[in-house]
Amino acid sequence: MSDGRTLAREFLEQQRLLGGNTVILSVGSAAGSTPSSRPGSVTPPGSSAGLTPGASPLTPGSSPGRTRAPAANALPPAGLSYDPPSGDLFSTDPIAQAVSLAAIAQLVATCTKCRLCEGRRHAVPGEGPADARLVVVGEGPGRVEDETGRPFVGPAGELLTKILAAIDLPRERVFICNVVKCRPPENRLPQFDEVAACVPYLFHQIELLKPQVILAMGGTAAQTLLNTKQSLGALRNQVHRFRGIPVIVTYHPAALLRNPNWKKPTWDDVRIARRLIA
Ligand code: SF4
Repeated sequence: MSDGRTLAREFLEQQRLLGGNTVILSVGSAAGSTPSSRPGSVTPPGSSAGLTPGASPLTPGSSPGRTRAPAANALPPAGLSYDPPSGDLFSTDPIAQAVSLAAIAQLVATCTKCRLCEGRRHAVPGEGPADARLVVVGEGPGRVEDETGRPFVGPAGELLTKILAAIDLPRERVFICNVVKCRPPENRLPQFDEVAACVPYLFHQIELLKPQVILAMGGTAAQTLLNTKQSLGALRNQVHRFRGIPVIVTYHPAALLRNPNWKKPTWDDVRIARRLIA
């Protein structure tokens, strides 16, 4: 199979996973023929199947498939900006004094600052490289995360891995974490005091990472990072800021598993986040 066809197949698979609209790739019927097109079809230029070999359909700034609207590359308007004070290195607060992600993880592992420590098997501080350009923030560990001590594993985590691959960011190059580091019972929403107790860990992780973009997945992550009670729907499609770092808000992968109709808007959101990464 040619490189173009392989890319076309991957592109269609990504569209399917992310809920994109139906795409029809027109292929020339004979060698040397010009690919035909019809309304609603997509014929990316450059190969027999319409995709340029070696060029990802998800390259930042490009428009995969049918998204050819004139304003397709325009960023959404500016949204909220939240700039909480940073920790004081001269304070006695051990979180503020942590100089590495590993040091924060050690503090999280033995933390008893809120009631969520009582039911946990493992705390889940987050994982990823210290030079990650993208930080993904979810709500809190679920059952599998609690069992393994790793964030975003299980079905929702597998979907996140596919989403990241679709924007040409392997999971291994992304820092992935949650607002609260211990599993809430029965996966209930973290309560206000639990978030308040745990969020200094997240804020200090972001301070150390200094990512180019933060992807807030789900209402809890978005509301915590932006210090707002606005709904996820109201916060989408804007470029917010957390301490000056762009924040894009989208649905949590677990919500996508429950409602596939949200895959397409999520696809739109993650492409915006990707375009903000150098
Ligand atoms: Fe500590 Fe956060 Fe776990 Fe609460 S959820 S015990 S604050 S690590």
